[in-house]
Amino acid sequence: MRQRAARDQKRLDSGAVSSPKDLENLQHEIVSLAKRQGDLEDVVLEVMERRESAQERVAELTDRVASVQSKIDDATARRDAALEEIDGEVASVTKEREVVAASVPADLLKLYDKLRGQQGGIGAAKLYARTCQGCRQELAITELNEIRRAAPDTVVRCENCRRILVRTPESGL
Ligand SMILES: [Zn+2]
Repeated sequence: MRQRAARDQKRLDSGAVSSPKDLENLQHEIVSLAKRQGDLEDVVLEVMERRESAQERVAELTDRVASVQSKIDDATARRDAALEEIDGEVASVTKEREVVAASVPADLLKLYDKLRGQQGGIGAAKLYARTCQGCRQELAITELNEIRRAAPDTVVRCENCRRILVRTPESGL
C-alpha cells in the first residue's frame, strides 16, 4: 500500500497527469491510502498490545500451574508417607493378631471369625456395667444371672447381637 501511495505521489509530482479530473482522483487516492495506512497501523498496534497482554496471561497461568503442581507433589508425598505408615501398622497388627490367634482354641477362633464377618468386623465385645459394648444393649437380669453362674472358661454371648462377651471386673456382674 505504501508502494502504491509512493507510485501515485511520483505520478503526481512528475506532472505526467495533466487533466484536472485525473489530478483530483490521484490526490483523492493518495489521501485515502494514507488514511487506510493509518487505520492499519492502529490495527497492528492493537494486535501487538493484545499479544503482549496474552503473553502476560500465559506467564501468569504458567506460574499458577507450577504452584498447583507443587501442591500436588506435596500432597502426593504426604499421602505416600501416610500409606507407608499405615502399611507398617497393618503389618504389625497382623503379626500381633497371629500371635494372639495362635493361643485361642480353634473352635472359639472359628466362632469369633464367623461373628466378625456377620457383625461388621467385631466378633467379641466387652461386657461393661451389664452392657454389651458391641450393640450397647444392657443385658436382661436372667441373662446376667446365667453369665454369673457360667464357668470362667465358658464362652458367653450377647443375647441381642450374639457377639462373644468378654468378662472383666468392670462387667457389673
Ligand atoms: Zn450385644
